[in-house]
Amino acid sequence: MKFVLLGPPGAGKGTQAEKLAKKYGIPHIATGDILRQSVKDRTKSGMLAKSYMDKGELVPDQILIGIIRDRLSNPDCSKGFILDGFPRTVTQADALSSILRRLNQKLNGMINLEVPQEKVIARLSSRRVCRSCGTNYHIEFNPPKEEGKCDKCDGQLYQRDDDKEESIQNRLKVYQRQTEPLIKYYKKEGLLIPVDGAKDISAVFEDLCTIVEGVKK
Ligand code: ADP
Ligand code: ADP
Ligand code: ZN
Repeated sequence: MKFVLLGPPGAGKGTQAEKLAKKYGIPHIATGDILRQSVKDRTKSGMLAKSYMDKGELVPDQILIGIIRDRLSNPDCSKGFILDGFPRTVTQADALSSILRRLNQKLNGMINLEVPQEKVIARLSSRRVCRSCGTNYHIEFNPPKEEGKCDKCDGQLYQRDDDKEESIQNRLKVYQRQTEPLIKYYKKEGLLIPVDGAKDISAVFEDLCTIVEGVKK
């Protein structure tokens, strides 16, 4: 099963992708997580990406396309994957099609998590992330068992720099301008699967499992 999860920042892509990956035993490929790791490791692409990420702008397409080409060529992706945060531009979507064509693979669908703007703002402004393993929490909607600590690895939870008010507004604008056109793009390809992402985490997950199991082979 090969799916893309699309939706505005805060739609719940990371939360749902992680649950799907665990349940179905396929890799969760999150470009935001990969980039944050490169920043932490101070790699060349990490250093370049950081200034864009801090402002809430998109990192240049060629960097992302390189990352995804390498990652999808890994044999662990051959039976399936969940893409979270990629593609985010039409150029990236075109690149994804050609990478998959070359690997002789096909997407099963592009799941669009639909969430109204006021909800994503509330989700982002109280999001917390584990410094060690990257798991997402929410102070109110998905709190850790112990405040400030990751349930999975005991890591420290922090607020991302780009989850502060100013950056959130910019990311939502960037999403509307550069990423939202992908909804039409995938509709045209017959791959668009809209999902109500405003429900609570377990209800959205149930809906996603029904969809994913519809294509399971
Ligand atoms: P969120 O989960 O809040 O939508 P991500 O963790 O996916 O955010 O991404 C964080 C930042 O990383 C983005 O604001 C952007 O700067 C960069 N980024 C992630 N994926 C991409 C991509 N496919 N293209 C360009 N930039 C990206
Ligand atoms: P994205 O990867 O799309 O940016 P996340 O999965 O990181 O989104 O979720 C954003 C925030 O909202 C996190 O704090 C997460 O715990 C919370 N969250 C995710 N899904 C839901 C949901 N269905 N209802 C309420 N809060 C949610
Ligand atoms: Zn952790």
